[in-house]
Amino acid sequence: MVDLSAPFDVLVVGGGNAGLCAAITARRAGARVLVLESAIKDFRGGNSRHTRDIRYMHRAATDFVTGAYTAQEFWEDLRQVTGGETNEHLARLTIQNSEELGDWMPANGVRWQKPLRGTLHLAKSNLFMLGGGKAMMNAYYETASKLGVETAYESEVSELKIRDGEFVSALAFCNGASCEVNAKAIVVAAGGFEANIPWLKEYWGDAADNFIIRGTKHNQGRMLKELLRHGGKPVGDPRGCHAVALDARAPKFDGGIVTRLDSVPFGIVVNKNVKRFYDEGEDFWPKRYAIWGKLIAQQPDQIAYSIVDAKALPHFMPSVFPPVEARSIAELASSLDLDPQALTAAVDELNRAAQPGTFDPGSLDSCRTEGLHPPKSHWARPIDTPPYYGYPLRPGITFTYLGVTVDEQARVIMQDGRPAKNIFAAGEVMAGNILGKGYLAGFGLTIGSVFGRIAGRGAASRAAA
Ligand SMILES: Cc1cc2nc3c(=O)[nH]c(=O)nc-3n(C[C@H](O)[C@H](O)[C@H](O)COP(=O)(O)OP(=O)(O)OC[C@H]3O[C@@H](n4cnc5c(N)ncnc54)[C@H](O)[C@@H]3O)c2cc1C
Repeated sequence: MVDLSAPFDVLVVGGGNAGLCAAITARRAGARVLVLESAIKDFRGGNSRHTRDIRYMHRAATDFVTGAYTAQEFWEDLRQVTGGETNEHLARLTIQNSEELGDWMPANGVRWQKPLRGTLHLAKSNLFMLGGGKAMMNAYYETASKLGVETAYESEVSELKIRDGEFVSALAFCNGASCEVNAKAIVVAAGGFEANIPWLKEYWGDAADNFIIRGTKHNQGRMLKELLRHGGKPVGDPRGCHAVALDARAPKFDGGIVTRLDSVPFGIVVNKNVKRFYDEGEDFWPKRYAIWGKLIAQQPDQIAYSIVDAKALPHFMPSVFPPVEARSIAELASSLDLDPQALTAAVDELNRAAQPGTFDPGSLDSCRTEGLHPPKSHWARPIDTPPYYGYPLRPGITFTYLGVTVDEQARVIMQDGRPAKNIFAAGEVMAGNILGKGYLAGFGLTIGSVFGRIAGRGAASRAAA
């Protein structure tokens, strides 16, 4: 059992990717490091254990990526998805520093694999972890432990004592008792507040009751609230969140990656009134999947239905729950509790509007509709090949965007514009500095890894000062 009364140099709150990158880096810099993690050991690793891939800048193809992904391309992709809502200085710093991750991660135990085939067009820009995020987190914990990082599980930090912008101690519930942990510097890496439904309701109202949380129930935002209470400067839209179309049958928390549905571009999506509400084929799925959660959140009762036919099925990742299957559209509608006539009409409308074209899931193909509102811009083939399949969809919240402002040393910026002396933040709790809106697949880990390492270095050096 960890002796929590010991004098630590660096306290890391949160044992996900950002926290472990910080802890390993601080320890390698000579600091005595403690990680406090809310979850039990088997559920350690926060949302990071659900990940699969990380986006990074690189100059050439390797065994695991198909080509170069330059800093400029990376920046252009980021600028496009955020619509410019990004701190360009921090964004470019993240991109530049991401280059080192290709070596740093394997040096700390992570192994790569070649990307799997699927609807995600990431083979050039992203590295895939062998065994996914779970294996990555296990590797980091093993490395950290070998280096002498101390970790206490089932240890939720409830309060931070901060005086004049300086961290003093953290109050936590550890080993079944309240305790106060002292350290010379703190790295807050406790994720967003996506698992805190009452907090989400402040912005989304009762609709939030129908949200499914894709990751850990432990990301309650307590540390974010503490930093803001002590004068940390907020960043990011409080209502902003990364939210995808999720199988409505997924568990309320921790369903992870397998409950996401990638069927949307290959069929139509209707709400419970059988109305289409967005262009399902607007752009490549990795560039669009993150808007569908919000689109569904805006529909009556926050539910929608993805409708595809037999020829669409091989083009997206198989779903963990089998689709609802029927020989006719009317029968499918009945099974989904939708109006059979209305769904038949919606499918007929698509089928009439679909123009002849060359179907190609790998490009923005020529299969588009004419005269359909909203249009379907690509992959618009008639839904005419039985059996027909339907999936109920709910908004699946991945993470929230509200965070604390940081500088390029990962120091938390206070309301007066000055950096806190010994308070650092990394990962989702500060990602809003760089991702004001939108998302790039694999970029959550990039931000957490880059800023985790910066924070770890900074905290260790502060502790040594
Ligand atoms: C299903 C899913 C798939 C994803 N896939 C990818 C992907 O492939 N690539 C990618 O880049 N991103 C992906 N993401 C996003 C990615 O998970 C996050 O961007 C990233 O993991 C955030 O890392 P973090 O360290 O900031 O937070 P987390 O990994 O969530 O870690 C936060 C930790 O803090 C702990 N904690 C919270 N509050 C407290 C407290 N008060 N006291 C103590 N501990 C606390 C939590 O228990 C948790 O372990 C995915 C997310 C989900 C949910």
